Amino acid sequence: MPISRRNLFAASAGLAMATAIGDIRTANASTELATVQMPGVIRRKVGTIEVTALLDGYMEMPAALFKAPEDEAARLAWKQFQPASPRLSPVNAFLINLGERLVLVDTGAAGLFGPTLGRTPQALAAVGVKPEQIDAVLFTHMHPDHVGGAIDPHGNAVFSNAEMIVSEADFRYWHDDTALNQAPDAFKPFFSGARTVAKAYEKRLTQFSGETELLGALGTVPLPGHTPGHTGFVVHSGDDTLLIWADIVHHAAFQFAHPEWGPAFDVDGTLATASRKRAFDQAAHDRILVAGMHLPFPGFGHVALEKGEYRFVAAEWPYDL
Ligand SMILES: [Zn+2]
Repeated sequence: MPISRRNLFAASAGLAMATAIGDIRTANASTELATVQMPGVIRRKVGTIEVTALLDGYMEMPAALFKAPEDEAARLAWKQFQPASPRLSPVNAFLINLGERLVLVDTGAAGLFGPTLGRTPQALAAVGVKPEQIDAVLFTHMHPDHVGGAIDPHGNAVFSNAEMIVSEADFRYWHDDTALNQAPDAFKPFFSGARTVAKAYEKRLTQFSGETELLGALGTVPLPGHTPGHTGFVVHSGDDTLLIWADIVHHAAFQFAHPEWGPAFDVDGTLATASRKRAFDQAAHDRILVAGMHLPFPGFGHVALEKGEYRFVAAEWPYDL
C-alpha cells in the first residue's frame, strides 16, 4: 500500500493503540543499541564497470572556513536542516573494478586527519577486498584526507602491489620547499604527509599531466586550484559516464548556491572557483553523473542548473547491479 498522509496517520494511531493494550510492549528490549555505524559501502555500475563508494568517515568543517558572509552561510545551513557551524563533511573514496584491475581512487585519511576518519580499510573489508589486491591507487590530489590511507602508522605502503598514480603538478607542489616555507603553519603537515606517502611508493610511482588516459580506461580532467594538480577522473563505459570530481565541493549546502565560496585551504582560490564552475557547467549541460569526495555519502548525484543557479540532486541507490 502506498504511503499517503491518511494511512500514515492511521498506522500511527494503530501503533498507539497497540502499545496501549500491551501488544508491542518491549519488543527487542534485550537488544543493546549498536552505538557504532556499519562500514559505508554502496556499489553502482557505469556501463560494465563497477564503482563502489567507500565512506572513510567525516571531518568537521566550521562555516568560518569558507569565504562566506556569516548571515548568508547560516541561512543556507538552516535551509538544508544543518547546524550553522560546524558542519560535518564526509570523506569518500571510490573503488573501481575494471574487470582485470582494481583501482582505488583516493584512500581516506587513516591517522592523518583525526579520529573521525580512517574507516576505508573496514569499508574495503566489507566488500571483500584485501589491500594487496589493489592494482593501482589513483590520487585526485595529495591532501591528507585523500592520501593518508595509503600508508600505515610507520609510513609503509598499505597497498603492497599497487602502483601509485598522481598528477605531476601535485607531486611537484608537495615536494617544493619554497611552497612549504610559504604555507601557513597549519598546512605545513600536509607537505610531510604527501611526502611520506610518495616515498612509500617511490619505486612504483607514475605521474601524468593534463588530459590523458590512464589504465586504458579512465580519463583525467585537470581541475586545478584546490591544489595545483587537483584532478577529476572520468569513468566511461557504454552509454554511461561518471565524473569523479574530487574536491570540487566541500560543502554541498554552501557551494552549489555559491560556487565562489571556497575553503580557506584552497592553494589558489580564484582558480579553484573557476574549476568548480566549469565542472558544474559540464555536469549540468551533459547531464552526467558525478561523484565527490565530500558530497554526502555515497557521493553520487547530478548538477541541475535552473535560472542561473546550481543545485545538487543526489542519485538514487541502485539495488540490483
Ligand atoms: Zn578533501
